[in-house]
Amino acid sequence: MKPSNDSALVLFSGGQDSTTCLAWALSKYQRVETIGFDYGQRHAIELTMRPTLLKKVRDFSTEWNSKLGEDHLIDLGLISQLSHTAMTEEIEISMQENGLPNTFVPGRNLMFMLVAATLAYRRGMNVLVGGMCETDFSGYPDCRDDSMKALQVALNLGMATRLKLETPLMWINKAETWQLAEQLGGSALVELIRADTHTCYLGERGVLHAWGHGCGSCPACTLRARGYEQYIGRAKSSNL
Ligand code: ZN
Repeated sequence: MKPSNDSALVLFSGGQDSTTCLAWALSKYQRVETIGFDYGQRHAIELTMRPTLLKKVRDFSTEWNSKLGEDHLIDLGLISQLSHTAMTEEIEISMQENGLPNTFVPGRNLMFMLVAATLAYRRGMNVLVGGMCETDFSGYPDCRDDSMKALQVALNLGMATRLKLETPLMWINKAETWQLAEQLGGSALVELIRADTHTCYLGERGVLHAWGHGCGSCPACTLRARGYEQYIGRAKSSNL
């Protein structure tokens, strides 16, 4: 298949960030496909949410429905064979001696991009979209802009391609991620993301809080809740 700059493969986990990235890609590219990874994550709830979310994104707009193509779910169980982290095993979330939380899965985002690039090669797609963010990340080195830029060079050299790695959330915080969703699909998209995406590290769905579902106390829930409060606060003050 001839590579096309009009088509993008979105790393889609079913969380707030990747759903916003999917909406961003659908507003920018003519053909969009999604890729998700089963890597033995402790709580696979986000994987079970993906098909529902994709259906809701399709129902959201006829234009998006016509652009959204295949979803690819890839088994990356080898990640849990290789590493020992709070994301893949029943161990408590804590800070490690190297200053990184033990929710960091070494090599995960690098492997995700490598696998996505391999699939994009076969599917004739030239753009990879990921929700990596350097602004309010937990210090994960594979979320850094430099890591992604270096990886883009390595992938293109190694496969003789002209792939572009797009990270629309790289320089915005969580409040601005909610704002971006509003720009892309209005309050209806914000509501879809609030009610149907999953971010909680502990895999808790539970009640629907103002900011969405989750335990409310893990680092991912805390970040999501704080961002939502800031977003709502800003929206209120701009309406005064
Ligand atoms: Zn949580």
